[in-house]
Amino acid sequence: MAESMKGLHRSHRCTEVSNSEIGQQVTVMGWVQKRRNLGSLIFIDLRDRSGLLQIVFDEPKVGKEGFAKAEALRSEFVIAVTGTVEKRTAAVNENLKTGDIEVIAEDIRILSESETPPFPIEENSQTKEDMRLRYRFLDLRRPDVQRNLMMKSKVSMLLRNFMEQEGFLEIETPILTKSTPEGARDYLVPSRVHPGTFYALPQSPQLFKQLLMCSGYDRYFQIARCFRDEDLRADRQPEFTQADMELSFVDVDDVIDVNERLLQYVFREAIGVDIELPIPRMTWQEAMDRYGSDKPDTRFGMELVNVSQVVKECGFGVFTGALENGGSVRGINAKGQGAMPRKKIDKLVEFAKGYGAKGLAYLAVNEDGTYKSSFAKFMTEEELKSLVEHMQGEPGDLLLFAADENKIVWDVLGALRLELAKELGLLDKNKYQFLWVTEFPLLEWSKEENRFMAMHHPFTMPMEEDWDKIDSDPGAVRAKAYDIVLNGTELGGGSVRIHQDDIQEKMLEVLGFTKERAYEQFGFLLNAFKYGVPPHAGLAYGVDRMVMLMMQCDSIRDVIAFPKVKDASCLLTEAPGTVDEKQLEELALSVQQIEEVQEEA
Ligand code: ASP
Repeated sequence: MAESMKGLHRSHRCTEVSNSEIGQQVTVMGWVQKRRNLGSLIFIDLRDRSGLLQIVFDEPKVGKEGFAKAEALRSEFVIAVTGTVEKRTAAVNENLKTGDIEVIAEDIRILSESETPPFPIEENSQTKEDMRLRYRFLDLRRPDVQRNLMMKSKVSMLLRNFMEQEGFLEIETPILTKSTPEGARDYLVPSRVHPGTFYALPQSPQLFKQLLMCSGYDRYFQIARCFRDEDLRADRQPEFTQADMELSFVDVDDVIDVNERLLQYVFREAIGVDIELPIPRMTWQEAMDRYGSDKPDTRFGMELVNVSQVVKECGFGVFTGALENGGSVRGINAKGQGAMPRKKIDKLVEFAKGYGAKGLAYLAVNEDGTYKSSFAKFMTEEELKSLVEHMQGEPGDLLLFAADENKIVWDVLGALRLELAKELGLLDKNKYQFLWVTEFPLLEWSKEENRFMAMHHPFTMPMEEDWDKIDSDPGAVRAKAYDIVLNGTELGGGSVRIHQDDIQEKMLEVLGFTKERAYEQFGFLLNAFKYGVPPHAGLAYGVDRMVMLMMQCDSIRDVIAFPKVKDASCLLTEAPGTVDEKQLEELALSVQQIEEVQEEA
C-alpha cells in the first residue's frame, strides 16, 4: 500500500549526504535500485537523480514493521527512509560518491510500489532503443540519460547568463505562424476559424528576429523550438532547439567576436574545456578544397589534394574524361594503409559509390617502391611518379582518387576521409576542434528545381565585392554567411542580413520569386524594410547537437527527453495519431483514404 508524505521532509538528495553528515539523522527519498538480503541485514541502493546511497536495515534499529517493509521491497519501489549516517565498516565502494558511508534506517515508508520494469534501469543499457523509447519514462531514469538532460539544462542556463550579460533581450516569437522560407518542408496546423487556411510551425524565428531588429530591440536572443519536416537522419529531429540570436549595427566580425566568447564561456563552465581564441577561420572554398566538406573535421589531416594538373594529359580516360567535362581529379593519402586487402578496398569503392562516385581509383605504394594500382597500366612510369610525389606518397601508403564533377569529388573524398579516420581510430573524442567556415556561396543550383536556391536563406547579405556578378555569374557570388563547426559537426550558422530593399528585391528575383509571391509570403518583412532598418546579423546554434557533442553521445535522441524516431513518430505516445471525425469537421478537413495516398506516393 502506498503511504503518504504526511509529516515527512526530504533533508538531502542521495549524494548530498556525505562524510560531514556522519552521526546526523537524514531523510532521503528515491527509487530502489537494488536490494540484497543477508538475513539479519538488508541493504538497499537508493537512487535519485543525484546518484546512489546505501541504506542498511537492521531489525533492532528499524523495528519489526520497518524490517518487514524492507523485506517487501523490489526494484523501482519508491521509498522514504529516515536514519543516521554512518561510516561504512566494510565494502567501501570507491566508484560511488557516497561509497564510504551508509544510512542506518530508523524508519521507512513505501511511497509507491512498482511492477517489474521491462528492462533494468542501469547505465549503458544494452536494451534495444525502440524498447527504451516505448518506456521512455523508465529509460529517463537511467543515470546517463539523466546526466545528459541535466547538462542540457545547465547549458541553457549558461547561454541565458551570457546573453543577459552581453545585453541581449530574451523575446518569444510565435509558434503558430506563417511559412518561413528556410528550405525545409513546413509542419502545418489547420485553422478552425479560417477554414481551409493553415498556420506553419516555425522552421526558425528568422523573420521575427529580423523584425525585432527593425523595431529597435538591438540584441535579441531566444532558446527556441524549431520544426522541420525533413526525412530524418541520425542527427536530426523534426523538432529541435535553437539558441537563436540577432544583433543590430554589426558586421561579420562582431558576430564572431560575441560568439567566440559565448562558446568559450559555455564550454568552460559546462564541461571544463578551454577554447583557445580566436577560433580559426576558413573560407568555404578552402574547406571544400582541403576537406571536401563545408563542416570539416580538423582533428586529423588526410587532406584532399587536387591532382588535375598532374593527370590532365595522362592515358587514363576516367581522369581525363572528368577533366574534359569540367570536373576535377583529387585524392587522399591514407598513410600506412598500402597493405589494405583488396576486399577492404572494394568496400571503400562501394562506400564511395554511395556518395555518387562511379568508382574509386587506388594506388598502393609498396614497401619496395613498386605500385599496386587499379590504373597504373594506363600511365607512364613518369606520370605515376609525379602523381605519387604530389600526393606525398611514401612506401606503405594507399592513395585513393575520385574523378568527377567537383561536387561529387568533394562529397566522395570528404566522406571517405571521415570513414577511414573512424576505422583507423583518428577521431579523438576528447579533442574539441572548433572552426569558423566563412564566405559561403550565396546561391546553390538545384537540379530538381532547375533554379538557384539560397544556400543559407533568402535574407543573407551578399559580399559587397561580388554583388556586381549577380546577373552575369550568380553562382560565383559569395555571402556574408558563417558556420561554426565542431569536430566535423555544424554547431551553428548565421549571416549578415540584407537590410536594403533593392538588394532584397533583386535577391528574391534571382531566387525566382515574383513580386506578388514574395509579398504574399513575407510582405510584412519587406514592408518593415521601408521604415528604417538597422544593418543586422545573427546566428543560431543547435542546442541539442551542442549538448550531444559535450556529452560525447552518438545520437541526438540521447539528449532530448522525448525524442521521435526515424519515421518522425513518437514510440511513447504513438503520435502522430488519427483524430475524431468531429475534430476534422470543425477544421473543415477531410482525410483521403490512406491507401489512395500510398498509391499516389
Ligand atoms: N535562421 C537560421 C537557421 O536556422 C540561422 C540564422 O541565420 O540566424 O539556420
